[in-house]
Amino acid sequence: MVHTVAGPTRLTTMRGIAARFTTPLLPDDYLQLVNPLWSARELRGRIVEVRTETADSATLVIKPGWGFDFAFTPGQYIGIGIRVDGRWHWRSYSLTSPPGWIDPARRSERLVSVTVKAMPEGFLSGHLVNGVPPGTIVRLAAPQGGFVLPEPPPAKLLFLTAGSGVTPIMGMLRTMRRRETISDVVHIHSARTAADVVFAEELSELDQQHPGFTAYLHLTDQWGRFDLADLDRLQPDWRDRETWACGPLDMLSDIENHWAAAGIDSRLRTERFELERAEIGEGGTVTFARTGHTIDTDGATTVLEAGESMGVDLSAGCRVGICRTCVVTVTEGHVRDLRTGLEHQAGEQVQACVCAAAGDCAIDA
Ligand SMILES: Cc1cc2nc3c(=O)[nH]c(=O)nc-3n(C[C@H](O)[C@H](O)[C@H](O)COP(=O)(O)OP(=O)(O)OC[C@H]3O[C@@H](n4cnc5c(N)ncnc54)[C@H](O)[C@@H]3O)c2cc1C
Repeated sequence: MVHTVAGPTRLTTMRGIAARFTTPLLPDDYLQLVNPLWSARELRGRIVEVRTETADSATLVIKPGWGFDFAFTPGQYIGIGIRVDGRWHWRSYSLTSPPGWIDPARRSERLVSVTVKAMPEGFLSGHLVNGVPPGTIVRLAAPQGGFVLPEPPPAKLLFLTAGSGVTPIMGMLRTMRRRETISDVVHIHSARTAADVVFAEELSELDQQHPGFTAYLHLTDQWGRFDLADLDRLQPDWRDRETWACGPLDMLSDIENHWAAAGIDSRLRTERFELERAEIGEGGTVTFARTGHTIDTDGATTVLEAGESMGVDLSAGCRVGICRTCVVTVTEGHVRDLRTGLEHQAGEQVQACVCAAAGDCAIDA
């Protein structure tokens, strides 16, 4: 009798067998000789294509290796690790492909895509948009995140996005289109100019072809920021719609206030791509107790950024306080959560990506 065991269980078994057959050498050494995407230790992916979307954004089509969970929920993000100058750097990107996507151009290959906007001051995004060649092997962190589309989706939806904030919504829209679950979806997207609109063609095609989908485009260079008071005119039933919003910090704060004032904040889900540094304090000297590194920091520099600047090997994921990959223990002094201003003292566990020194402090890392 043949027993079929799905997904992770089978992979774990295969890893176990590989470990037994190849001991005392590490199984990874053998696996990688055959295929660089096979690793028993970590998730990997190969960038198979880099598609230009706009002057400063591109879609990376990635073939994930062993162990990747293709049954993610639309709206989730993955971590991508790239080696630059001998060190691995991680950033998060929303999946723009629907679960189970098979690219028509590469039949039978299960792929995922992310769409990256190059940040002018950023370290990695410009490299991903303009510099990373197809064939590059990247590390991947499994899909995660709670900014997701339920199945089945609500009957009436509103998507409010700006700039690269359109990416998780595109993953949701593509999924709904495949599953034929678009019933009544309104999408209001802001971009600086028409040339900056990522997925412009696809959104306009969906708008024309699908009676249940209406897209509005707001060009901020011409008309300034989208005024939420205009919702009453543009979409008078906005209060009745389950809403997802993703974009710049100030836009999201305005939306949260608007929904709270209308008493419907339970209908709103938001996702931030960057850390909201709301409460900046005095800073101080951070000591990484295990490695012995010390660094003087200002009150806006996170413990994670301080450690990274000196090559301290801290685990990190989303970098905005969602995933808790970077939890460390404060061993001396205090740190401040930059989102809330709350101080944490020695003995407490904190997320290194959202906390900065509040005076001199030491961290167990
Ligand atoms: C859950 C999640 C999903 C994300 N999905 C996407 C995505 O689909 N596409 C995408 O392009 N980016 C996405 N990001 C942002 C991405 O992870 C990186 O932060 C971004 O690419 C900048 O990386 P960098 O190395 O160039 O900049 P860094 O050197 O890391 O940072 C430069 C500065 O830019 C800020 N910053 C980061 N993102 C933005 C932004 N969007 N607008 C303004 N300032 C910003 C950072 O806070 C930092 O202060 C996502 C972030 C999160 C947390």
